[in-house]
Amino acid sequence: MPHNNGKSRTRRSWAEPYKIKMVEPIKMTTREHREQAIAEAGFNTFLLRSDDVYIDLLTDSGTNAMSDNQWAGMLLGDEAYAGSRNFDHLQDTITKYYGYQHTIPTHQGRGAEHILSMLTIRDGDSIPGNMYFTTTRMHQELAGGQFVDVIIDEAHDPTSQHPFKGNIDLDKLQSVIDEVGVVHIPYLCMHATVNMAGGQPISMANIRAASKMCHDQNIPVFLDATRAVENAYFIKTREDGFENTSVADILKEICSHTDGCTMSGKKDCLVNIGGFLALNDAELADRARNECVIYEGLHTYGGMAGRDMEAMARGIEESVSFDHQHARIGQVIYLGERLLEAGVPIVEPIGGHGIFLDARRFLPHLAQELLPAQALAAALYVDSGVRGMERGVVSAGRDPETGENRESRLELVRLTLPRRVYTQAHMDVTAESVIDLYEKRNHIRGLAFSYEPDHLRFFRARFTPIGGKQILDDALYSSLPDAVSDTANA
Ligand SMILES: *Cc1c(COP(=O)(O)O)cnc(C)c1O
Repeated sequence: MPHNNGKSRTRRSWAEPYKIKMVEPIKMTTREHREQAIAEAGFNTFLLRSDDVYIDLLTDSGTNAMSDNQWAGMLLGDEAYAGSRNFDHLQDTITKYYGYQHTIPTHQGRGAEHILSMLTIRDGDSIPGNMYFTTTRMHQELAGGQFVDVIIDEAHDPTSQHPFKGNIDLDKLQSVIDEVGVVHIPYLCMHATVNMAGGQPISMANIRAASKMCHDQNIPVFLDATRAVENAYFIKTREDGFENTSVADILKEICSHTDGCTMSGKKDCLVNIGGFLALNDAELADRARNECVIYEGLHTYGGMAGRDMEAMARGIEESVSFDHQHARIGQVIYLGERLLEAGVPIVEPIGGHGIFLDARRFLPHLAQELLPAQALAAALYVDSGVRGMERGVVSAGRDPETGENRESRLELVRLTLPRRVYTQAHMDVTAESVIDLYEKRNHIRGLAFSYEPDHLRFFRARFTPIGGKQILDDALYSSLPDAVSDTANA
């Protein structure tokens, strides 16, 4: 593992800080089987059956493995309609580790985003943030607001080595405030480890400065805390002055600069479902409880079963352990470093929740119209049964005004790692398959849409390979590695 940074010392092996008590068998498939499965799925990895997938790196959302302690907690679920003891435990745990005074439980992260947006955003408002997230922006827009991106420019450049690519550009932030006026800014939406930038963290210095800037002008700051503990780990390992501060204390400080948070428990909190809105302002929390009762469930369960709240409380406690984060993020770094050593182009620096293959540089023979990231995700599945997802021109969709494909600077395949689910051996299999594909990249065909849904097309679109039936053809091009763009006309 990457944890022995002293490269000159003898290598000491590293292993996951847990052992396996229960196993879930996965189906081993043949290449022939996978070729058929991906063709039936229209070459879209979202349309594969999970049973046909060997190593599933589609997402880290709700795919976590719970601990024995969490499963034991499931049996202690108090399924009372009102006042469940598990709610008290969850709220106390959130106050202990995140520091917020009031917790409003929700069915998952977007439930919290919905409530916060409804309560704070008025028609015509602008909400600055360090890059959008799909559901967050949608709820801001549905409430009449408009998201304004104030992330630093480096976040948009896959080759920039900036250690905190999630940082807020303070000049951009002040310009937005000056332009639209303080009264039209309900809050700053601050993301910790920015998902859409590739899991890139924000520094404590930047959190302090951006929050101070907003608070000095009476603008509240709400944190998207979905991966805030992972961000705390990056601050500890990358930012001067935090080497000796615990992950838990760093998390507490991050939150202390903000007025509340929305949370998808399906990530950091090590559970499969759930979320919350946490707030310090008693009056706002009371109004949030009223909305919770309408849209989520009673304010002491908000769409979660008692057992789910217990599992989340215990998951939060486990999530702030240094050893856990060291293993979780270490696994991502391990996979990324194996790929970098082999010269595979990925987004750098390596982020917190996954590896992003740069399909533009991986498949230079495929123009963006030939959907290189979509093709690469399909080819990877055929090669080894590893499932990733496209984050490029297909995900970007069409401009509703012009009907043209939205420009997408990034053309990526995301390999997202579920927490505590796979071993280092699974990472080796994944890396070897990607490296092998990189060596025979000219064997990968481009794709064309055969079905394109009107909205969020990446979920359900279907494709056909250009110039042949298979996405990955070993007989293809081996003798003429540079002439492959001709296939576009085949
Ligand atoms: C997943 C996610 C959300 C939404 O949470 P859900 O639990 O999927 O509703 C919000 N913000 C970020 C950064 C996320 O990754």
